[in-house]
Amino acid sequence: MGLVGNIRARWNASPDTPVLHWEQAWWSRARLLERSRQAAGFLQAQDLGPGDVVGLQAHRGPDFLAVFLGALGSGVTVLLLNGAYTPREVGFLAEDADARLVIAQPAVLDALRAAEPCALLSADDLAQRLDAARGAPIDGDPQGPTISLEAVGALGYTSGTTGRPKGAVIRHRNIQGTVESLHTAWGWSTADVLVHALPLFHIHGLFVAMLGSLWAGARTVLLPRFSASAVSRSIQEHQGTVFMGVPTFYHRLLAQPEPPELPSMRLWTSGSAPLPAPVWESFRDRFGCEILERYGMTEVGIVLSNPLKADRVPGTVGFALPGVHAFVVDRDSGVPLPDGEVGELRISSPGLITHYLGLPEKTAESISVDTTGRRWMRTGDLACRRADGRFSIVGRMGDMVISGGLNVYPREIETVLLDVPGVDEVAVVGVPDPDWGERVVALVVADGPVDAAELLRHARSHLAGFKVPKEVRFADALPRNSMGKVQKHRIRTAWPMP
Ligand code: AMP
Repeated sequence: MGLVGNIRARWNASPDTPVLHWEQAWWSRARLLERSRQAAGFLQAQDLGPGDVVGLQAHRGPDFLAVFLGALGSGVTVLLLNGAYTPREVGFLAEDADARLVIAQPAVLDALRAAEPCALLSADDLAQRLDAARGAPIDGDPQGPTISLEAVGALGYTSGTTGRPKGAVIRHRNIQGTVESLHTAWGWSTADVLVHALPLFHIHGLFVAMLGSLWAGARTVLLPRFSASAVSRSIQEHQGTVFMGVPTFYHRLLAQPEPPELPSMRLWTSGSAPLPAPVWESFRDRFGCEILERYGMTEVGIVLSNPLKADRVPGTVGFALPGVHAFVVDRDSGVPLPDGEVGELRISSPGLITHYLGLPEKTAESISVDTTGRRWMRTGDLACRRADGRFSIVGRMGDMVISGGLNVYPREIETVLLDVPGVDEVAVVGVPDPDWGERVVALVVADGPVDAAELLRHARSHLAGFKVPKEVRFADALPRNSMGKVQKHRIRTAWPMP
């Protein structure tokens, strides 16, 4: 059986149990499955079968999930599309993925029609088309198709803070590997209530949060979007137990003037971008809970995690999860480095993809096979392992600054600057410099009066001279993508020349 059949097998015979809360109403397991069958029937009527690709840029809500489950339950692959993608981006990905059908945002659709990369459906018309569809049996139904765990469930295009996006080919077994391992590591149970505010088009919101909850037979309260007050209200109303966020969410939860009492919560997790230690500490002080930070990427799934039951250490992403092999290696030789040294993180995991779609050279550059046949991902992330086995992520390899021939890791400097009162957020980058090669500079978002000279004095007293920013500028916000990742290339290109 594939992923959908296995989720259903875990639901046993309780079809009436609530599973998804949306717009003031609970959907039962039976209703969600019925809608998924309608989605499967609709895809079939569009002539999509096993191995075909449907692009999904649908509106947030149960129908998004029904199309995802209906597609996977009939062997169709879902091309995950960010809701904010423009016609050019959707057109490129639809063509690259050879999609047969794209369900697209109306604003994208009109522009796409001219290029006609494939069959198109407006996200506005999806509900009506599903209502009218004749249902088809899905994975796990008595007359349903037999789906293999080797089938390709999703194409996840790397978030592309730089460069051309690459399509990660994600099989049912990759998704299931991540979901199963987090089920145990994070203690999911049928009693859990997940309050869900992450995007559904990304592995964090879809696999880690949504499928984690479905796999557990837990309940999910799906919010239309993130807002600190809606999350707090929802946790109180539904006795929420689990919340998953990107660091920006935690930052905003802390910015509420009166932090609410949320005694039902048992687990707050953070990932997709580094969680600054001051945010972790303030959250513990104000909400009485330690955020569990974890690390993962589309190509490998979630692989490193702080523990559920032992100490969580801010500024670290914890230990390798069971079944995951993680090493910090010299970037050039690939030789493992001693604990405490910074190098590239290499990962072997159940979630590791087989390849990037249509890019054999990129696959060979990124995924290597050792003499025992084990496959390894070059993550492109700089990390170090502490003596106790915990990992810290230091930054992206491309973000490392080489100034005067010395390696500077921006995260170290950001951590120091965040300690200065009034500094809310900070991004350190390297910009071209005729003298230094690259010059370290800092972009600061302040939530109170901050004096640049004072900031630099603080940096000088905590950091070696070559790491101290040569220049500090202030901005109202850092440029971020929809997963909360800071887009450092935009800061670099916009930085004025001296
Ligand atoms: P994506 O494939 O979009 O999930 O992005 C994966 C990338 O997000 C990783 O390669 C890291 O650069 C970054 N990332 C994920 N989790 C963390 C974390 N806890 N701390 C720092 N960076 C993270």
